[in-house]
Amino acid sequence: MVWLKRDIRTDDHAPLCRAAESDLPCIVMYVFEPEVRTAKDYDARHERFIVQSLTDFEGRLQRAGKRVHILHGSVVEVFEALAGQYAVNHVYAHFETGNHITFQRDVAVKKLLSEKGISLKEFKQYAVWRGLKTRKGRGTRSSEFLSRPLYQLDLNRLETIALPSHVTSRFSAEDILHRVGGSDQKMQKGGETQALKTLNSFFEYRSRGYMKGISKPAASRESCSRLSPYLAWGNVSIRRVYQECVQQAKGGNAKNLLFFAERLRWHCHFIQKFESESRMEFENYNSGYNRMEKPFNEAYFQAWKTGTTGYPLVDACMRAVRETGYLNFRMRAMVVSFITAHLWQPWQPAAEWLARMFLDYEPGIHYPQFQMQAGITGVNTIRIYNPVKQSVEHDPQGEFIKKYVSELFNVPPAYIHEPWKMPLMEQQFAGCMIGEHYPAPIVNLEKANKYAADMLWKMRKDSEVKRESRRILNRHTTRG
Ligand SMILES: Cc1cc2nc3c(=O)[nH]c(=O)nc-3n(C[C@H](O)[C@H](O)[C@H](O)COP(=O)(O)OP(=O)(O)OC[C@H]3O[C@@H](n4cnc5c(N)ncnc54)[C@H](O)[C@@H]3O)c2cc1C
Repeated sequence: MVWLKRDIRTDDHAPLCRAAESDLPCIVMYVFEPEVRTAKDYDARHERFIVQSLTDFEGRLQRAGKRVHILHGSVVEVFEALAGQYAVNHVYAHFETGNHITFQRDVAVKKLLSEKGISLKEFKQYAVWRGLKTRKGRGTRSSEFLSRPLYQLDLNRLETIALPSHVTSRFSAEDILHRVGGSDQKMQKGGETQALKTLNSFFEYRSRGYMKGISKPAASRESCSRLSPYLAWGNVSIRRVYQECVQQAKGGNAKNLLFFAERLRWHCHFIQKFESESRMEFENYNSGYNRMEKPFNEAYFQAWKTGTTGYPLVDACMRAVRETGYLNFRMRAMVVSFITAHLWQPWQPAAEWLARMFLDYEPGIHYPQFQMQAGITGVNTIRIYNPVKQSVEHDPQGEFIKKYVSELFNVPPAYIHEPWKMPLMEQQFAGCMIGEHYPAPIVNLEKANKYAADMLWKMRKDSEVKRESRRILNRHTTRG
């Protein structure tokens, strides 16, 4: 059996290759799981992307006369039913560093398969290792992993079989497949075909503007690779992207491409951190910060979520991510800074919201990045992004802002970053009265910034934070 998870593709797919090489009849399946679908970090946009990915995958298999089963139910129950029906030798899957729910599910599946005497072989798709105690030697191992030859699938050798109707009807996913359907033009479409198109257009021409556009909220949408959802849901393998990048860099544009390759390494680096300390999905990575008080303010949280804080770039970003599922790195960092520092809110509900909004949600990157940008790891530089400064530097004419915050459409560039400074007459000309059509700033930026900076630096000196910082450095860096 091949169990698909966040690896919906045919290229560089070790489990499918191994199944094909076995010359044994094989069941290829994906299971939509109720617990995953109702979790707080899951959104309809993720489900649509998965369905699109599966449709593309199914098409590829069908063209070769093969089939994939798309089911809905508890994976343990599915395995139990199939083990009762067939003499299953092996289950092949990719090793996943997921959230708490998928981790617990994997534990339950392993236990069941072991009880049934079925071997489970998990293949690596990232440079991530379970049970790693230190970072020593990891750089070399990562390089070696990323450069390994890719798996080449011979679909003709894969002998897929059909499941009996009592199994397919018991675990039918028809409801999901029909309900989701269609596509949302503003979001990236899932599937291996789209992933490869995106990869090609990036290497062919878009990457020329990579470094220049990476921090710009508008330009980055074109000049960054936009491969993140395809990597997150496994429509393309990171090794394919990395190896293609290294190859392309030999032909020119090396500066941009090596800068990009560095970020591909970060991908695995962050997932490794999360793999080693997955409690950071819920808890402060540096437990010294447990003593830092941040009372939850529903009004602040709602304003941030809905893009009505009165700070144009923050609002544009929050509306853009809701509409399109995407923000570039710097804007992600800025909106995190705004909610956790300027609005002094706990990171957990904000991380949960953005997990649902990011089409590329990858727990292993999301939670470590979130805590880092919130300034609570005790080991990274504390950076509180000033949204006005970011706006002036990265959206000088307010084009991005105007695209997503229509109330500000007629505001002249001189006031677009701080519309509350518009004289009344200008507000009337622009048809945008502050406090009526567009909110006044939710907090005083300078005061909020000073309060947050004072608190974060004070905490940095706390003995418990320091003790934890030493532990983190020992575990996750090569120093000491
Ligand atoms: C608070 C916060 C949360 C984030 N959550 C996610 C997430 O859930 N999923 C996700 O894929 N990325 C996340 N990122 C990292 C980064 O913002 C995105 O990977 C990137 O913006 C995706 O766009 P791209 O594919 O065009 O990036 P590119 O710049 O083209 O980079 C290529 C790939 O490299 C990896 N990468 C790039 N930057 C980073 C980074 N800083 N850290 C780790 N990997 C990186 C990603 O896989 C990305 O697809 C988060 C960043 C922050 C600050």
